[in-house]
Amino acid sequence: MNSLSAEQLDRLSTRIAERKRMLLEDVRRVLKRTSSERYADLVGEAGDAGDEAAASLLRDVSEAEIVRDVGELRDIAAAEARLAAGRYGICTDCGTVTDVKRLEAYPTAKRCIGCQQRREKTRAPSRYTGR
Ligand SMILES: [Zn+2]
Repeated sequence: MNSLSAEQLDRLSTRIAERKRMLLEDVRRVLKRTSSERYADLVGEAGDAGDEAAASLLRDVSEAEIVRDVGELRDIAAAEARLAAGRYGICTDCGTVTDVKRLEAYPTAKRCIGCQQRREKTRAPSRYTGR
């Protein structure tokens, strides 16, 4: 039982699909850039330490971008699976219907705001609990 209207579901699934297309384009663009001739020049025969550093920096930045994009694509795939299963918008932790405003702000949200906050609270501070 999903209390989102067909229209809301439609709008959110369109936004998810658009975001996915953008991310895939972004990944393609980054991959193209890192394999471009310019990049090949940088990594190539140059042999100069500065160029190698620049190439390595470029590679690190690209990897970070791809890791971020792929992480988001994974969230999108999960949201699509929930859409297909008719469970989109239903909190994966407590099973209540997630507020549509939250979904509009964050269409791939798995959890309702309450469960998300609880999760962030229990997970984040472990490293700082020295007192
Ligand atoms: Zn919940």
